[in-house]
Amino acid sequence: MANGIYTTSLIGQILNANEIIVNDGPVSTLLTDSRRIANAPEALFFALSNRRDGHEFIAEAYEGGVRNFVVRSAPAEPLINANYLIVPDVLAALQTIAAHHRAQFDLKVIGITGSNGKTMVKEWLYQLLSPEHNIVRSPKSYNSQIGVALSVWNITADNDMGIFEAGISTVNEMDKLQPMIMPEIGILTHMGSAHDEGFKDRREKVNEKLKLFKDCKLLIGEYELLLDHKKQNQEQHHFCWSRKFNSASLYVFSETSISGNYYMRAMYNKQEIECLVPFLDQASVENAITCWATLLALGYSPAVIDERMERLAPVSMRLELKNGINDCSVIDDSYNSDIQSLEIALNFLDQQNQHPKKTLVLSDIYQSGLSRDNLYRQVANMLNDKKIDRFIGVGEALQHYKDWFHVTEKHFYKDTYDMLVDIHRLNFKDETILLKGARNFEFERISRALVQKSHETVMEINLNALLNNLNYYKSQLQPGVKLMAMVKAFSYGSGTFEIANLLQYHKVDYLAVAYIDEGVALRQAGITLPIMVLNPEATAFDKLTEFKLQPEIYSFGLLAEFVNYLQVNDIINYPIHIKIDTGMHRLGFEGFEIEPLCDLLEDNPYIKVRSVFSHLAASDAEEHDTFTMKQIRRFEKAFKQIEQTLDYKVIKHIANTSAITRWKVAQFDMVRLGIGLYGIDSAVTDPNALESVATLKTSISQVKKIKAGETVGYNRNGSLKKDGRIATVRIGYADGYLRAFGNGVGKMLVKGMLVPTVGNIAMDMCMIDVSEVDVKEGDEVIIFNGDQRIEELAKQISTIPYEILTNISQRVKRVYFYE
Ligand SMILES: *Cc1c(COP(=O)(O)O)cnc(C)c1O
Repeated sequence: MANGIYTTSLIGQILNANEIIVNDGPVSTLLTDSRRIANAPEALFFALSNRRDGHEFIAEAYEGGVRNFVVRSAPAEPLINANYLIVPDVLAALQTIAAHHRAQFDLKVIGITGSNGKTMVKEWLYQLLSPEHNIVRSPKSYNSQIGVALSVWNITADNDMGIFEAGISTVNEMDKLQPMIMPEIGILTHMGSAHDEGFKDRREKVNEKLKLFKDCKLLIGEYELLLDHKKQNQEQHHFCWSRKFNSASLYVFSETSISGNYYMRAMYNKQEIECLVPFLDQASVENAITCWATLLALGYSPAVIDERMERLAPVSMRLELKNGINDCSVIDDSYNSDIQSLEIALNFLDQQNQHPKKTLVLSDIYQSGLSRDNLYRQVANMLNDKKIDRFIGVGEALQHYKDWFHVTEKHFYKDTYDMLVDIHRLNFKDETILLKGARNFEFERISRALVQKSHETVMEINLNALLNNLNYYKSQLQPGVKLMAMVKAFSYGSGTFEIANLLQYHKVDYLAVAYIDEGVALRQAGITLPIMVLNPEATAFDKLTEFKLQPEIYSFGLLAEFVNYLQVNDIINYPIHIKIDTGMHRLGFEGFEIEPLCDLLEDNPYIKVRSVFSHLAASDAEEHDTFTMKQIRRFEKAFKQIEQTLDYKVIKHIANTSAITRWKVAQFDMVRLGIGLYGIDSAVTDPNALESVATLKTSISQVKKIKAGETVGYNRNGSLKKDGRIATVRIGYADGYLRAFGNGVGKMLVKGMLVPTVGNIAMDMCMIDVSEVDVKEGDEVIIFNGDQRIEELAKQISTIPYEILTNISQRVKRVYFYE
C-alpha cells in the first residue's frame, strides 16, 4: 500500500479531475467494492459501473466510513465531509492512478499473460525467486482491467521485483494493461482455446496478448508460439523452450514420472541439464517448464534451479469450507498468507452465522514488503475491525506483537508444533475456525486435526460461480424488482447455511424452503432473512411461528387452520403468502375461489398478506408460450382482485428461473430464482453468462485387467468387447449415481477422457472402462463438472437436471470453495 505518498488533492491533479474537496487528507487504499471496505479513513472509492452502476454503492461505502469518491457526475446532494473527484470515465481514472504509481518505481517487473497457467506460474516464480528478492505480486488471480490496477497499487519502495498477471478477453484490452504493468520481462504461458469467443481467431488472440511485451527486453515462452514474434522483433531477446525443436534455448527431450515426481532432461547452452518437479499433471508440468526457462534466462545455475523446483508447493488460491470436529466449520486457507488474502478470508469468516463463535488461527506473514511494525499494525487493525471471538497466533512475530490484538480470548504459540501439542486445551467446539497460515507453518497439520474425515466422493461447490450467477440474474431485473432465492431441498442438493449465508451477505430479499424444518435449520444457523415455506404442515405451526417463518397459504382449509392457530395463540398481523393456481394445478386457489378468499382476507386482523404469487408450468418451453401467457393474465386478474380488497400493497411474483430472462413482463415485484443459481437455465443463450457451480468427483479403488467377454458386476450384465482394463470407483446408487447409469449409459471423466460404465451400478461402487486411459489406484474421477455437464447426465437417463442434483445423497460430503 502506498502509504504517505498520496492525498486526495494530489490524486485529483493526476486525474485532472473536477474536484469537490472539503477535507484533504492521505489516501493509501483503493476500493472498488463497497462490501469489502478496508482502511476506510484513507480509502478512495471508485464508483465503477459494470452490471450495476457503482454510484448506487456510494452510500454503503460512506456508511462504512469512506469519505473519498471518484465519480462520473457531481452528486446532487454531496454527503457531509465527503470529497469527490469527478471524471468522465471512472475505470480509466483507476487505471491512470495505477499507471502513475507504477511509473514512480524502478523495479524489475515480470509480466505474465496467456490463457492458462498465469497464476500458477506467478506463484511459483514467487516461491523460486523469493530468496533473493523482495517481491510484490498480483494477489490471487487479480489480472483484469480492475485487478491489474489494484495489484500494481501495492508496489512500495521496499520491493525490488514485481510479478503481475494480465488477462484479457477481447481486443484492445491489453493496451490498457501494459502501461500499468510496464514489464521488463515478459512470459507467455499456455495458449488454449479458453476465452476464444472475444477474438476473430487464435492469431488475433496471441497478437493481442503479445502487446503486453512491446517494451520488454526479454521474452520467455514456447518456441512455436513466439516464432513469428521473434522474427519481427529482433531487438528483443527471446528465450524459448520446446519439446520438439532442438534449436530452442531450452530443449526438453526426455520426460518420465518417477514415484510421484516428474523428471525432465533438456539441452541448454549445449549442455545436458535436468530437473525434477513434484507434480505429474500436464498443466503443472508445462508451467514448471516455463518457470525453469525463466530462471535460466535470469541467469540462475541449473543446479540451483533443480534444487528449488523440487520443493515447489502446490498453488491453491481458494478457501475451502468444510465440516469440522465437535460441530465446527473449518475455513481452510493454509497456503496463502499475504495481507490481501487475509482480508478476503476475514470477509468470508464474517459471512458465516452458523455457530455462536468465530475463531482465527493465523501464522506470521512473510514477504509482505512492509516493515514488521507496519505489517502487524495493519493486521491488528484488520482483526480489531472484525467480530472475532478467539484469536490464536502462531509464530514469533505475532507473539511479539500480542498486545496489539484486542480480542476477548487470545492465545499465542511459537510454532505449529506447540499449538498442536496444546490443541485439546483449546477445546474447539461449535465455532467457525479460519485457518490462515504461511506455507512453512504447515497448517495442513492443524487442518487434519480439526476437519472431519470424509470419504473420497465429494461434491465441490464453487461459491464464486454461484455469486456470478446471482449477479447475472440481478442484472436482468427491471429496476426495483426483488429477488427470492429458492433454497428448498438442501438448496437443490448444494447445502444449507453455506449457501444461505452467501445469499444473505449479498442481500437477496427473500429465501424460500419447501418444509418448516428446512426453515428451522436455517434460523438455527443464524439466517435472519425473511423465509417463505412452500408447504407448511399444520402440525408444526408452533415451530413456524417460533422461528418467524412465513407460510404459503394455498387452500381454504389451510387458511382456516392457520387463522385459528393465530387466534388461539393471540398472534396478530402474521405475514403470509397467498398462492394462486393459474394452470399448474399443484397448489393454490383457483380463479373461482378468489372472491370468497377476498371475503376471508378482508379486515382479518390475524394475518397480513405479504405477497400474492403463482407458479409457471413451462416458462422455458416455447411450445407452451401461449399457455404461459394465459397463466400470466390469470395471475394479473387474481392479484388485482385481492389488492382491491386489502388496503395495503403486496408483493406480486410468478417468475421462476427461466421466466426471469424469457418473460421480462412477468417479473412484477419479485422473481423466484431456483436452478439458475446453480448455473442451469436453458433460457440463457449467452455461454458466458452462467458458471457451473457443482463438481461431483470420486476416486479409483482398484484397476483390473479383463479379458474380452468376461463378465463384470451383479447379474453379469457387463463385459468388454476387447481385452482391456476396468477401474472400480467409489460411487454407487446409494450416493445418488442411479442404477440407470449402468452398462455404458453413464460416462465419467478420467484424465480428461470420457469413459463409459461397465455392468450394473452397485450400491456403493461401480466399474468404468479404462482400457484407453493410463490410470492407477487413487486417481480422480469426475462424475460431473463444467465440462461433463449435469444437463448431459440428465439426458443420458432421460430425466431433468433438478433430479440429478437433488439425488446426490447426504453421505456425499460437500466442500465449499471461495476465492
Ligand atoms: C422450485 C420453485 C421455484 C424455482 O424454480 P426454478 O425452475 O428452479 O427456478 C419457483 N417457485 C416455486 C413455487 C417453486 O416451487
